[in-house]
Amino acid sequence: MKEVIGLREAFNLANLVRDGLDKLIPYDAHVFPDVIKLDANENPYPFPDEVSRQIGQLAAGDLLSRYPDGEAVELRRDIAAYAGVTPEQVMVGNGSDELILNILLTFGTGGRVLITNPTFSMYKIHSLVAGAKPIPVPRRGDFSVDLPALVCYARQRDSRVIFLCSPNNPTGNASSLEEIESLLQQVNCLVVADQAYLEFGGADCAPLLNRYPNLIILRTFSKAFALAGLRVGYLLAHADVLRQIKKVKQPFNLNAFSQAAARLVLQHTALFQEQIQAILQERQILWQGLQNIEGVTAYPSAANFILFRTNFESKTIHQGLLQQGILIRKLGGPELPGFLRVTVGRPKENELFLQALAKVLQAAGRDSR
Ligand SMILES: *Cc1c(COP(=O)(O)O)cnc(C)c1O
Repeated sequence: MKEVIGLREAFNLANLVRDGLDKLIPYDAHVFPDVIKLDANENPYPFPDEVSRQIGQLAAGDLLSRYPDGEAVELRRDIAAYAGVTPEQVMVGNGSDELILNILLTFGTGGRVLITNPTFSMYKIHSLVAGAKPIPVPRRGDFSVDLPALVCYARQRDSRVIFLCSPNNPTGNASSLEEIESLLQQVNCLVVADQAYLEFGGADCAPLLNRYPNLIILRTFSKAFALAGLRVGYLLAHADVLRQIKKVKQPFNLNAFSQAAARLVLQHTALFQEQIQAILQERQILWQGLQNIEGVTAYPSAANFILFRTNFESKTIHQGLLQQGILIRKLGGPELPGFLRVTVGRPKENELFLQALAKVLQAAGRDSR
C-alpha cells in the first residue's frame, strides 16, 4: 500500500532498489575464529619470512600517501614476464572477483552469460549484479564440460560471455587445451577461462591468446601465491578487449601496497614453488586418505582442494567437523548432494581432518540407525 504525504509518496526503500536485485542475497563470508581453516583454498604454509620482511618495509616513503599507479605499469610488466604475454595483454584487479564483475559490466549487461555448473559461485552473482542473465549449462556426470551443449547455447541470441573454470572450483578437474581451443573456434562470444588454480595443475591457456581475440584468462595471487588478504587478481586478453573493460574499471582499483607486494612475490617465485610442490604431495596423501575412509568417494584434483561425497547430508558432515574445530566448504543442493570440498592443508592439518571425518561419519552412521 502506498501512503501519500502531500503530493509525494512516502519513502519506501523496496521501491527504489533496482530490478533484479531481489534475486540476490548478500554473500555470507562468515568468520569462524580458532579453527583449522580448510575452506577457502588458501596457501596453508607460513608466508616466506624474507618476502614478508620486504613487504613490511613497503610502508615507508610515500607509497601510502600517494594515489597508486592506475595503470599498474610495473606490476603488469612483471606479470607479463611471468605469464609469457605482453604488458598490453594484462589488466590487474582487486582480486579476480573484481575482474569478473568488470567483464560482466562491460559485455554481460542485458545479455546472456553461460555458466558451466557446478562451478565458482561469483559468475552467477556478478551476472545478476551486472544485470545479465546467467544461464546454467550443466557439466556431465564426470564434471567434464558438455562442449556440444555449450556451443549450442552460445549460438543462441544475445549470448555474450561463457565462463569456463579450469581447473574447476569446486570439482577439481581441468579442461584440456584442445577442448578450450575447440570452444573458442566454434563460438563468437567471449570465453573466460578462469585459471585461479593454474599453479597447481591444468593446461595453461596463455599460448592461445595470440590466436583467439575472444579469449579472456583470469588468474590470481590469492591461491598459490598466498596473497588472498591483499586482493590481487589479473586478466590476460587481447588489447582490444582490455580497452573496452577499461571503460568500467575504477581508475585506482588496485592499491599501491598490493601492487608492490605482488611484485615482491614475483621476485621470489622459487620460495612459493617449494610450497606448491609440498601442496601437490599432500594432495595425493589427502586424496588417498579420503579414499581409505569407508563411505567416502574422493574426486581427482588438479587444484589445491579435493571434492568428496558421503552418503550423509553435507550439512551434517560440515557441522560435525566444525564441532571438532575443522572448517571445510559445504556444497550440496540438487547439483552436488552430499558433496563437500576440502582445501589441502599442512600435513598435520590434513591428518587431523581425516581423523575427525572418520569420527563424524561413524557418529552420523550411529544416529541414522
Ligand atoms: C578463489 C577464486 C577466485 C577469486 O580469486 P580472487 O583473486 O581472490 O578474487 C576466482 N576464481 C576462482 C575459480 C576461485 O576459486
